[in-house]
Amino acid sequence: MLKVFDNPNCEATSMNDTTSLLFGLDGYGVLDVTDVGPGAVRVVIETIETEAACPECGVLSGRVKDRPLRRVKDLPASGQQVQLWCRKRRLVCRERACPRTTFTQATDELPVRARVTSRLRGKLAVCIAGSNRAVADVAAEYGVSWTTAHGALIAHAARWLPAPEPTRVLGIDETRARSVRWIKEHDTGWKRSDPWMTSFVNADPHVPGRLLGLVPGRSGACVKGWLALQDQQFRDGIQIAVIDPSAPYASGLRAALPQAKIAVDHWHLVKLGNDALTGVRQRVARETHGRRGRKVDPAWAHRRLLLTAGDRLSAKQRERLAQVLADDDPHGQIAAAYQVKERLRELLASPPDPWLLRARLWAFYHACADADLPETTRLAGTISTWWPHILIAIQHGVTNARTEGFNRIIKQVKRAGCGYRNMTNYERRILTHIALTRAA
Ligand SMILES: [Zn+2]
Repeated sequence: MLKVFDNPNCEATSMNDTTSLLFGLDGYGVLDVTDVGPGAVRVVIETIETEAACPECGVLSGRVKDRPLRRVKDLPASGQQVQLWCRKRRLVCRERACPRTTFTQATDELPVRARVTSRLRGKLAVCIAGSNRAVADVAAEYGVSWTTAHGALIAHAARWLPAPEPTRVLGIDETRARSVRWIKEHDTGWKRSDPWMTSFVNADPHVPGRLLGLVPGRSGACVKGWLALQDQQFRDGIQIAVIDPSAPYASGLRAALPQAKIAVDHWHLVKLGNDALTGVRQRVARETHGRRGRKVDPAWAHRRLLLTAGDRLSAKQRERLAQVLADDDPHGQIAAAYQVKERLRELLASPPDPWLLRARLWAFYHACADADLPETTRLAGTISTWWPHILIAIQHGVTNARTEGFNRIIKQVKRAGCGYRNMTNYERRILTHIALTRAA
């Protein structure tokens, strides 16, 4: 590691200040720059400060014992690869009683025993997290090992990820952490691996949305565990928690936040309404044609039209919809399920007026009773179970839309890394990427 160049310049003289200014490494002056081949230069630097305080006793010393040369990694300069050598001063402690006889001068850019400059470590971390690039890719570009690049990300992540700020409305949602796989185990045979992740988002409509945290799993225990890690002030500040209709989340929340109201997001309920209608359409196709729906079946060909919001259809589309139901719905089952879906949409989009809500809820149940189909009856049961929580979402105007937005970014991070085996790394990549790119 120790190496002294045969070039006498770097021993005796320093280059002028403009070179040091151009090189721009805080606290260091450039002693020498040599061309070492195409697109590469060798740069020798030394600290400008000639004195330093002993780390043991704090007494200032400028007595040099020796000045060994150390190779360190740094950023490229002006488009050229830099072979950086640092002449480190080893100083003698002047305090006789001090047990430490010598010490090496350290700076913020090159702390004790550092082999990589702080500015290169910062650049590595920003490249990985900010641009969502693979660690190996960034490490290769800057000529460092995977471990160094990943270590830089871990060190910076601690700085970029402050404790979650208190919020009035907490949004909770699940996202698949990786695809389903079957894993062969020694004694028990095949085991299904279906890992999920729960994300916690600041869903207060009056402040910018933030991803507050991530935990592996999608159970009530994950919610309780994450909330237990936060401080009492954070837990006390939550007035409403928005979830999709998930019983484990609701039970976790009831245990961890007894004072908070649980609201159920309308987006998932609209999806349940659409799913019920699709279920009916598929069953009718099987019963009528004895097979799955095809391009030639009007209901299959217009399946998107069936799911489009009724109040957004043009006169021509409404006409076509009526024709589809007349041609391909012999017992009026699809039409009945369509009415249920539309009544549900009206109910969920209702202003928080108690009379209007009661009227629309009645219209929805009435449509379900009229339809009398297994799919719509099940939907009515779900709405009835979650109604108190749906009402809270309507009354307070809260949704989980932001959580869904963050799920999209989470999926992008997952794709860039082609999946992650280590959940801690995965969480860190998502949180740092969002911290760097979605700063409020
Ligand atoms: Zn000392």
